[in-house]
Amino acid sequence: MTRTRIVIAGAGIGGLTAAAALGGDHDIEIYERADAVRGLTGSGLTIWGNAVAALGRIGLGETVQELGAPLESQLVVTETGGPLSESPIGRLQREHADMGVGARRQALLDMLLRAAGPERVRYRRRVTGYRETPEGVTVLLDGGAEVHADILIGADGLRSVVRGQLLGDGDPEPLKHMVWRGISDSAAHYPVGTVLMVYGRQATRMVAWAVDDDSVCWSIARNGAPARNSLSANDLKDQLRTFIRGFPEANQHILESTPPERLLRSDLFARRRLDRLVAGRVALLGDAGHAMPTVFGQGACMAIEDAVVLADSLAAEGPEAGLKEYERRRMPRLRWVREQVFKVSQFQEWESPLLVTMRNTVMRTMPASRQEAMWRTMFSFDVGRPAGERADAAG
Ligand SMILES: Cc1cc2nc3c(=O)[nH]c(=O)nc-3n(C[C@H](O)[C@H](O)[C@H](O)COP(=O)(O)OP(=O)(O)OC[C@H]3O[C@@H](n4cnc5c(N)ncnc54)[C@H](O)[C@@H]3O)c2cc1C
Repeated sequence: MTRTRIVIAGAGIGGLTAAAALGGDHDIEIYERADAVRGLTGSGLTIWGNAVAALGRIGLGETVQELGAPLESQLVVTETGGPLSESPIGRLQREHADMGVGARRQALLDMLLRAAGPERVRYRRRVTGYRETPEGVTVLLDGGAEVHADILIGADGLRSVVRGQLLGDGDPEPLKHMVWRGISDSAAHYPVGTVLMVYGRQATRMVAWAVDDDSVCWSIARNGAPARNSLSANDLKDQLRTFIRGFPEANQHILESTPPERLLRSDLFARRRLDRLVAGRVALLGDAGHAMPTVFGQGACMAIEDAVVLADSLAAEGPEAGLKEYERRRMPRLRWVREQVFKVSQFQEWESPLLVTMRNTVMRTMPASRQEAMWRTMFSFDVGRPAGERADAAG
């Protein structure tokens, strides 16, 4: 087998998973603009069963499950604790994929870095563009250096330089809401195993899940345009207290037990369109290809799925045809997931009492079977090979 030279732009979740999935059969270099592989302090993730199943295909399924706490059920309530919906996500994940976990972002990144091969990452090296050549692709780095490769994978996140050149579609679009997040130092009063979502007044919503026995990762979202945060850490915490006044005790407690210096505020952006992931010898994955709102916590999970499918497609078809095959396999899945995410993101932004009452009534009365059907599809990871090949691979 000829070794393919692969350059990956970005050592985030997608780029590292791609390197791990491609394994030792290729010559891989990862260029990362930062000086380390870093998850922001106070940031945790839901790593759903579909992503665990994808990681399972590259031998990391059990390791990722050991990073955090299982996601057994999802409960959505109003700010006074009135139930809106409850989903047995643990059972559904076991039936359709593997058990998902809540984990710290840094723990996931550390695991992926070990699997990718730390020696493959070149830090403080920013990719600035690329040039396609008859033999492959020349990747341009800051400082004027160039590296030659057979393919370039753009895993450089929301404001991807590789995407900028490949699609030329400008900046991502700001969403109508922003988030504050943190990880508490105590899980007292919190129903561990539950993803708890509270829909409050003025479209304030808080979602939380445990990442271990003593820590709960949470985020509070409110409508508003991106803005500079001028508050001190303590004032920020006071502001968040007012946002969730009247919310269930578990929510108040996790905010209280999060040190102010570990609070994070983020403006949110997304890419509305998804037309392509590949052109010639260049492919996009993760947020570079399809950044979306954080509803359902599937962004990183999709980056993981992308990476595993990309590696599988390259193994099956070789460099150029493999990239086309990757795009062909990923598009239907990504389109479906994004459709759910954008739809629910819009419902969550509703503030008018009439619309809120309507939404809550729909949620309370929706048949469990409909909800479950949505979750089943969400959790089902399929590498996407034709059925015959899948049977061969299983054998
Ligand atoms: C508040 C919030 C909560 C979220 N919660 C969840 C969740 O619970 N579950 C989930 O699945 N997803 C979640 N997501 C989404 C998830 O964070 C992203 O989808 C995921 O990080 C995308 O991974 P990535 O590797 O594509 O990009 P990134 O994580 O952004 O990594 C890109 C990497 O590329 C590097 N880079 C950028 N430009 C260059 C360049 N020009 N040259 C070299 N390197 C470069 C960056 O430094 C970075 O290391 C959340 C997102 C937000 C904002």
